[in-house]
Amino acid sequence: MKILIVEDQQKLASLLRQGLAEAGYAVDHAGTCAAAHDALSESSYDAIVLDLGLPDGDGLDVLRSWRKAGFNEPVIILSARDAVQDRIRGLDVGADDYLPKPFSLPELLARLRSLLRRHANIKDTVLEHRGIRFDTVGRSVRFNGEAVELTSRELALLEIFMQNAGRLLPRTLICEKVWSSPYEVDANLLDVYMSRLRSRFTPPDGTVLFKTVRGVGFKLQ
Ligand code: CA
Repeated sequence: MKILIVEDQQKLASLLRQGLAEAGYAVDHAGTCAAAHDALSESSYDAIVLDLGLPDGDGLDVLRSWRKAGFNEPVIILSARDAVQDRIRGLDVGADDYLPKPFSLPELLARLRSLLRRHANIKDTVLEHRGIRFDTVGRSVRFNGEAVELTSRELALLEIFMQNAGRLLPRTLICEKVWSSPYEVDANLLDVYMSRLRSRFTPPDGTVLFKTVRGVGFKLQ
């Protein structure tokens, strides 16, 4: 699951980013309306956490244009404007929830889970492939019935493979999705993560589920 945070206060943005990443979501951040528009035109998101007071405009206008353009995923507004009229306006424009600042991170995470769960009845939330069972909303994984503890990065990585089972995934594409900036990624880091996934998901007969395609990428077969 990938979440976009639209927030101009650097400190709050990094707090959100960290909190969501620790909860196992892939996270992108935009600090302005313009950057938010760019992010949404370049990538797809499962939910958006949206601030209203942005340096180059109003988050409500951004939300209105997204909804007009058919963006249908959950949006939670986080705003210091907490008058009843503000909340009503936000919901009318197409927000799914409204959390006044200051807020508690656990509450935001709980509301996000609830929205994703509700939204999920039109999507498949549990991905299954060769004994791996990935609950994308609950962020939990089982392998042949046994719970598997994964770090948030490992979860994000596994999710991409589960969504694309049987498909060859180029290294650059994987890095782009799991690490928001491919520049953060050392060439060997992906290999390290892949060997960790392999060690966690080896069937009793020793089959290699995550196949390396030399010089290209990896495939969950
Ligand atoms: Ca703001």
